[in-house]
Amino acid sequence: MGELSGRRLNRKQSTRIRKSEESGYNHTEATKLKKLLFMRPKNPPSAEPVMDDITKLVTKYWAFNKRSKYMYKGTHHCSCHVSSTNSDHFIGPNYDILTNSLCLHYVQFHRDEIPQDELDRVVSLLTPAED
Ligand SMILES: [Zn+2]
Repeated sequence: MGELSGRRLNRKQSTRIRKSEESGYNHTEATKLKKLLFMRPKNPPSAEPVMDDITKLVTKYWAFNKRSKYMYKGTHHCSCHVSSTNSDHFIGPNYDILTNSLCLHYVQFHRDEIPQDELDRVVSLLTPAED
């Protein structure tokens, strides 16, 4: 009995935590989506672009991106002054991943500032499930 009610409480608590994390997204369209490579590099870009499997993966899906209907009031500028578009973009095998127009620029020129877990997400989200 005691164990059961304890388990129920834990599930409630974890739901509450998940909900508060989701509310951090900045517009309703994004709440159901996976977001990728939203970052603000601080350092200058690398002299040469990184060209590896991750760059190839992002390049492949970026080529088929769909622009979101949601428009921001302004554009975002990278630390190296490259400018984004004023909207987000959908990419991925199912077009359910939200990213920004600087995603390719980030993986090529700001690779050292992308956390490893974000790079892992790029690979896992952009690799279609093999079924
Ligand atoms: Zn940059």
